[in-house]
Amino acid sequence: MADDVKETQKSSVQVPAEVIAERREIVKHEKSLEKLGAFEIAFQMLKLAKNNEKQNIFLDAGRGNPNWIQTISRLAFARIVEFGVHESEQTMHQRDLAGYTQLMGISVRFHHFLSPEENEVDQFLLDALNYCEERFGFNSDSFVKELVDGAIGNDYPVPSRVLAHTETILNAYLASTLYHHVDGTKLALKTQVFPTEGGTAAIAYIFNSLKENKLIHRGDRVIINTPIFTPYLSIPQLNDYELQRINLNSREEDHWQLAPEAIGKLNDSSVKVLMLVNPSNPGAMALSSQSLDAIKAAVTKNPDLMIITDDVYGTFAEQFESVYAVVPNNTLLVYSYSKLFGATGWRIGVIAAHEDNVFDKLIAKLPDNQKAELNKRYGHIALHPENMKFIDRMVADSRSIGLYHTAGLSTPQQIMEVLFSLAHLLNESVDGADQDHYIAEAKSIVDTRYQLLNKGLGINGFNSPHNTEYYSLIDIYELARQYYGTEFANWLRDNFTQLDFLYKLSKRYGTVLMNGVGFGSKPGILRVSEANLPDEAYSMIASDIRGLMASYHTRWMKEVPHQA
Ligand SMILES: *Cc1c(COP(=O)(O)O)cnc(C)c1O
Repeated sequence: MADDVKETQKSSVQVPAEVIAERREIVKHEKSLEKLGAFEIAFQMLKLAKNNEKQNIFLDAGRGNPNWIQTISRLAFARIVEFGVHESEQTMHQRDLAGYTQLMGISVRFHHFLSPEENEVDQFLLDALNYCEERFGFNSDSFVKELVDGAIGNDYPVPSRVLAHTETILNAYLASTLYHHVDGTKLALKTQVFPTEGGTAAIAYIFNSLKENKLIHRGDRVIINTPIFTPYLSIPQLNDYELQRINLNSREEDHWQLAPEAIGKLNDSSVKVLMLVNPSNPGAMALSSQSLDAIKAAVTKNPDLMIITDDVYGTFAEQFESVYAVVPNNTLLVYSYSKLFGATGWRIGVIAAHEDNVFDKLIAKLPDNQKAELNKRYGHIALHPENMKFIDRMVADSRSIGLYHTAGLSTPQQIMEVLFSLAHLLNESVDGADQDHYIAEAKSIVDTRYQLLNKGLGINGFNSPHNTEYYSLIDIYELARQYYGTEFANWLRDNFTQLDFLYKLSKRYGTVLMNGVGFGSKPGILRVSEANLPDEAYSMIASDIRGLMASYHTRWMKEVPHQA
């Protein structure tokens, strides 16, 4: 740690005053930065980077927000709104005031409205209608009305958890992208979904309802597969929860798979909850079949284990298998449309749960007095609160019970989820199973950037179907060793944290990376996102990292006596 303002003891040369001043400045910053989360640190670094000393274009490779979008579903959404307004004008029309849509014959009128020969968006909508009628046997009028009313947003979400046809389509999407080695269609039929305001809300709702339903208590043991997306580290720790966190500390050497000692911890029946991001963030690796088998075995030994798996990067791995597909009765699945579809502003995600699940089972097994308390809580909204499923309790809790009748994700957001899901399902029906050209394109974008970064840094990437290549983790001490030898690497480790490196990379070069340590990585790790900058930026980032490393090396040469 660079908590010592004095220069290294071995120093034999006079250190210039401005170097000491800079060091003092950084140490001061480090002290305050260490308290902040990775995302907040990156925010601070952005300010430095914008005014960087070299006047480089500023490069923010911190955030995971993609720089591509899926187009056709968005245009289809706009088209549905257009038709919806036209439909509404059939029942009432005074300048910019119109009435409500009518069910009878709406599908025929929608077909008339579309011009598939002239417009590929209309062709997409027509294909989508045909696909849904054939595959799911939807009644065309009720499906079109759900799309139209949903997109124009003329009514509260009813049912509040999810619109009816929407649930079927979201389930088909999840099955097609996240379950590969089981009968996905069968599992989809047993799966209930709750669309949420992104993965972010999904995570918050899950924690809140676990607590409200007395499934987690202060001091309970929770296993977290670290390193992990920062909210999973901070939420269990905060006052409301105060859970006892056990980090699995997956390692790069193991390609972020569960290590044998980690698997041992899973078998412990005092562990209540397992939380995973799979494929991981920041590790960017999907769990192997061995890791999945270990989780399955742990559930056999520990049948009440509650698992939360966040699979937002599932589509970026090959033949991805969700933990939900392996142990569906124990698992809540979180998915978000944000990353693949470039839709972070829409705030669209989903929680999925099996009809027959451990969460409901554990609620039923609570002591009578606690059950009575919960029945009182949910008795305000359900005649038989004891039968209310955990997933529906999450919907009610998300609006503090009292506002249950207006709960649920906004209907335009639900329809956007439907249209993204349908784009994938239609692509697969044309391109072939697991051949969706849009997904292939998104994967190829991150791959190109991953290769450019590795080439620039002179390191070998890890070529594996499990590697999403959405993020890279850079170990600055390992790079130092590779470039200039062990002695230099040790000096760097003894004197400078990755925060010093981050700070200088921002201030001097205008390049912002993320502090990997904030995700629970070991010291020296920085996260680079391959999602959000143009391809050529990744060569520049590599060259900035090399340049900064060279300047540390120059300093080492000056400050530390060397054998001639
Ligand atoms: C980006 C991300 C999310 C957030 O998803 P939103 O839908 O944008 O809220 C959730 N989990 C992980 C692991 C992520 O990387």
